[in-house]
Parts: sequence; structure tokens; C-alpha cells
Amino acid sequence: MSLLSVKGLVKRFGGFLATDHLDFEVEPGELHAIIGPNGAGKTTLINQLSGELQPSEGRILLNGRDVTRLPVNKRALSGIARSYQITSVFMEFTVLQNVVMAVQAAEGHSFMFWQPVLSDARLVEPARELLATVGLEQQANICVGILAHGARRQLEIAMTLAMRPKLLLLDEPMAGMSRHESLAVVELLQKLKGRYAIVLVEHDMDAIFALADRISVLVYGKRIACGTAEEIRSNADVRTAYLGDQEEMI
Ligand code: ADP
Ligand code: MG
Repeated sequence: MSLLSVKGLVKRFGGFLATDHLDFEVEPGELHAIIGPNGAGKTTLINQLSGELQPSEGRILLNGRDVTRLPVNKRALSGIARSYQITSVFMEFTVLQNVVMAVQAAEGHSFMFWQPVLSDARLVEPARELLATVGLEQQANICVGILAHGARRQLEIAMTLAMRPKLLLLDEPMAGMSRHESLAVVELLQKLKGRYAIVLVEHDMDAIFALADRISVLVYGKRIACGTAEEIRSNADVRTAYLGDQEEMI
């Protein structure tokens, strides 16, 4: 059984079909990339997977369980987590403090500001492990407010992982990053895939081709192709859809 199964998904905005009878699967540990021109419906799809948008039709199954109607917070608890929206980052706190609070929240406690959380090894140890996973150990004691854009994104991913998701949703995580910062994120995702299934929407084709186990191509809300990087590169329909910026893709 697939980890994620999307069946007959439709999203209408008025008479406009933003998601057009979409079927797709994500296997455990797979990094499944979604590419497509602007307006293809990539973010609309992610919003339906995360629970922010209700589909007009169709079903979303996680390990065979229908999660289509679960609201965002319940869906995150069931194992589908989107990086930014379940993380509330406290700018005036350190990187470590923020991850400790995410670990605490994931264990079902609400934030307890009056408690010296950093003295609780049961919270600090997993938090330090998460920082090591995302490559932020050196910045543990830095105030979040002064983190660079790329490091901030790494922190958000660490805080999302505190939820122990099975499936991680990332919508353009490299947007606005320097080359150096995107390479750090590629390296991080390389490390995370296998341990977590990941649905990645991204414009950076180098990143997509380096990371994706499979790529789905969306055009006008429809999936026109799905396959490995090699298959997608040589797919005639995909090349046609990308004719405008073919140079960039190949
Ligand atoms: P992508 O992320 O692939 O660029 P989107 O999912 O953001 O595309 O948008 C897909 C299409 O749906 C676009 O034509 C967009 O204008 C439309 N759309 C997205 N959200 C809404 C909304 N809330 N109301 C109406 N139209 C929307
Ligand atoms: Mg988008």
C-alpha cells in the first residue's frame, strides 16, 4: 500500500478547474517532486494535501486511512506536515529554544514559557539531534531573529520534524535563496529522503533532478507525466509544455 494515495482529486474555484481529476501516489521514503508552469495548480494541490483547502471532489488517503476531511492540525498529527504552517517561530528566542518548544508541543504539551525548558534533557536531547539533522548545531544559541534566510528555512524544517511526520510537504523551499543556501537545502533533503516521504514543489530544476525519485508534471491542474528524472527529461509532452523555457529545464 502506498503511504499517500490521491484519488480523483478535483478543486474548483468557481467554474475554474485548478485541480483536474488528479491521481497520484507517494511511497514511504520517496521524494516525489511536482513541477509545472506557473498557475498549474501545484500550490493548490499542496494546500489540499495539508488540509488548508477542501477538495471539491476526490479522496486523500494516508496509509489507507481517509484524511480528506481532517483539518490542518489533525492532519499534521496523522503524519502529513507542511513546513511553515505548523511552526510558530519565536524570533526573540534562540534556535535551540525554538526546537525544544516544538518537541514539547509535539509531545502534546502547550508551550510553557514559565518553565526553564532548557533544563529538561528529555526535550533538549531530541532537539539537539534535530539541529544536527538539519545542520544547525553551530547556531544553537543564536537568536532566531538574526538567522540568515537559508538557516531559518533549516530551522523550520527541524521544527516540523519534531512532529515526527511520515510525509513532509515543501512548497518552493528554495525560493529566494542564494545558490549556496539552496545547495545546503538540497543536501538536507538528500539526507531526509528515505527517512521521510517528501512532496517537493520546486522551480530549481537542478535540485529536482538531483533529488527526485519520481517527478509528476502538472499542467492546467492535470498530471501530464510521471516518472524518473530521465523519463521526464525525454518526455515529449513535458518538453512541449516547457517549450518556453526548455533551455532552463534540460
Ligand atoms: P502554482 O502553484 O502551480 O503556480 P496555484 O495552485 O497557485 O498554481 O494556482 C492554480 C490556479 O488556480 C491559478 O490559475 C490561480 O489563479 C488559481 N487559484 C489559486 N487559488 C485560488 C483561489 N483561492 N481562488 C481562485 N483562484 C485561485
Ligand atoms: Mg505555487
